[in-house]
Amino acid sequence: MYKKIYKAIKKYDTIVIARHIGVDPDAMASQIALKESILYTFPKKRVLAVGTGGAKFAYLGTLDKLENVNFSESLLIITDTPDRKRVDSPEVDAFAYKIKIDHHPFVEEFCDLELIQDQKSSACQLVLELIRKTKLKANVSIMGKLFQGLVSDTNRFLFNTNAELFSLLSKMVKEYPLDFPKLYQELYMRPFHEVRLQGYIEQNMKVTEHGVGYVTLTTQILDKFSADAGSAGNMVNNFNYIDEILVWATISEDKKNEIIKINLRSRGPIINGIAEKYHGGGHKFASGARVTTMEEAELLIHDLDRVCEEYIQSMEGETK
Ligand code: 5GP
Repeated sequence: MYKKIYKAIKKYDTIVIARHIGVDPDAMASQIALKESILYTFPKKRVLAVGTGGAKFAYLGTLDKLENVNFSESLLIITDTPDRKRVDSPEVDAFAYKIKIDHHPFVEEFCDLELIQDQKSSACQLVLELIRKTKLKANVSIMGKLFQGLVSDTNRFLFNTNAELFSLLSKMVKEYPLDFPKLYQELYMRPFHEVRLQGYIEQNMKVTEHGVGYVTLTTQILDKFSADAGSAGNMVNNFNYIDEILVWATISEDKKNEIIKINLRSRGPIINGIAEKYHGGGHKFASGARVTTMEEAELLIHDLDRVCEEYIQSMEGETK
C-alpha cells in the first residue's frame, strides 16, 4: 500500500493535500508534513495543502488556495478523514486519482486507494510510516511537525500508544535533533481567556447519575470569555481523571453555523456509536457530534448516561 501511494506521488506533477473540517494539529501536521516531504523529495512538483481555519496552528505552516489546478490531471491525497462530507476541500471528485490516509474507524470508501489503519495513533504516524517505507525524504522540520501531530492525537502518549510507536519515535529522535520544549510550547500555549473559560467549565459541570460530566456553553457565555464554539475542543482533554466522571461533554452553541457542537471524551465507555447517532463520529474514546437543539443535546447526554450505566454493570460483572 505504501509503495502504491509513493508510485502515485511520483506520477503526478500536481498534488493537492486536504484533511477534515474543524482542523486539529494531527490533521494539519499530517497534510503539511506530507507536502513538505514531497517537495523535499521532488522539488519540481506543485504541492498544495488546502483547507480552512488553519491560522490557529500557524506554527505548522501556512495553507494554500486551491487555485489554477487542472483537477483531471492532478492527485488528491486526503489525510485524517474517514468520510467524504468532512473533507475540507471545495473539490473532491474531479481529481484524476484520490488517496485516503486515515486512522479513524472505517466510514465509507470514496477514494481510489485507501490506507486505513484505525489501530494507529494518528494520521501523522501513517505519514511517518509512509516516509520510512518509501523513498520520500524528511528533515528535522518535517519530523518536528509529525511529532507534534502525534503528541496531540495521543494526548501526550496516553491513547493508542504502544511499542511500535515508541520504536518509531526512538528512531526519529536518534536521527533528528527535535527541540522538545519548543515543539510542546507551540502546541500547548494558550491565551488567558481560554484558561478562564476552563475555570468556568470546572465550576459549572453537571454530573449525571452514572458519571457523564457535561457543560453547556451558550453564545452569551462564550462571548463573555472571548471564546468561540471551537474553544472547548482545545481543552476537553483536560477533564480526564475525575473520580465521578467516566464520560464528559462540552456542548457549545455555534451561532454562525447554526449548530450546537459537542466534544465528547471517555475514559472507558465506548462513545463513537452515540456520536454517530447525533450526526457525528470519531474514535472510541474521543468523538464529536452536532445537533440543532438543546433538547437533542439533552437526549445525547441521556444516551451517554445509559452507555455509562452499561459499562459500570459490565465492570461489576467482571470483578464478581
Ligand atoms: P474533537 O472533539 O477534538 O473535535 O474531535 C474528536 C474526534 O472526533 C476527532 O477524531 C474528530 O475527527 C472526530 N469528530 C469530531 N466531530 C466529528 C463529526 O462531526 N463527525 C465525525 N465523523 N467525526 C468527528
